[in-house]
Amino acid sequence: MKAVRLHGYHQAPVVEEVPEPKLGGPFDVVVRIGGAGVCRTDLHIMEGQWDAAMHPALPYTIGHENAGWVHEVGPAVTNVAVGDTVILHPTPTCGLCRACRAGQDMHCVDSSFPGLSHDGGMAEFLLTSARACVKLSPSTRPQDVAALADAGITAYHAVRKALPLLYPGTTCVVTGAGGLGHIGIQCLAALSATRIVVVDRNPDALKLAEQLGAAHTVVADGGHVQAVLDLTGGGADVVLDFVAEQGAEQDGFAMTRRAGSYFVIGYGGELRVPTLDIIGTERNIIGNIVGTYNDLAELMALAQAGKVTLHTKTYPLDAAPDAFADLDAGRVRGRAILVP
Ligand SMILES: [Zn+2]
Ligand SMILES: [Zn+2]
Repeated sequence: MKAVRLHGYHQAPVVEEVPEPKLGGPFDVVVRIGGAGVCRTDLHIMEGQWDAAMHPALPYTIGHENAGWVHEVGPAVTNVAVGDTVILHPTPTCGLCRACRAGQDMHCVDSSFPGLSHDGGMAEFLLTSARACVKLSPSTRPQDVAALADAGITAYHAVRKALPLLYPGTTCVVTGAGGLGHIGIQCLAALSATRIVVVDRNPDALKLAEQLGAAHTVVADGGHVQAVLDLTGGGADVVLDFVAEQGAEQDGFAMTRRAGSYFVIGYGGELRVPTLDIIGTERNIIGNIVGTYNDLAELMALAQAGKVTLHTKTYPLDAAPDAFADLDAGRVRGRAILVP
């Protein structure tokens, strides 16, 4: 089968022929990929940022936002059958540790991360586990939802955590209306009555944000922190930072009000805040990584009800290098999807 393989850091992945994955354990599932999302994390992987955390053996197939159809199941699998349409939780988990039993899939002590730790889904087939499969309506096209498997679940997880803080009368700032941000805006609009303010460098992204539920948009042109402080009378109750690099992290924290909360969702930068500011204003800094299985299942309920729609640009698997280049250059509105 064809797969998008990373052979070394600081170089583009290569589309090449590799053997199809085979069932190993009794709970294994092989999925025929219908869509694989292209993510900024893939660019970070190529830059070597994830090497220390995941130390994958090179070469390997990237792609961690996957949906498709069940192709083959191990003898113990009962929750899905061959032919089912599925979206995959990004981290197949053990199901037995304390975190798994609490539903906190992303903190499982014995999980893997296909596409980061070993072969992922930018390929015709992917090996995963029964626990990772969320079954979808057969009418769902995998390419329309694939990016919800990571970009979507991550945005939803942060919004879901922030919900108790977003009662009517509050303001939530969304920084970055790209792949994750445009999903986060829709989740906020679907689940809360908060006033949504969106900050982005790109006027086109802000236009899309308005269509998705933003009450106000602010161009990140250097005057955006002050603009948000003016709009909110001293800062937002919650800032969801989908960028969190190149200075956006400092700006995001600066946009919170007293007792406000700054949610870090994007990454790559470094937040520097005097501890006196944190205690003096009782502001919170909250990390977010992927989400739970139930987060993904809930998000799919929203998607199948038409309340969260992914704006996508599809590429054939062979055109993966173009998709990476377009993402890197900011030419993708919404999400790029590889379709094998
Ligand atoms: Zn991703
Ligand atoms: Zn576990």
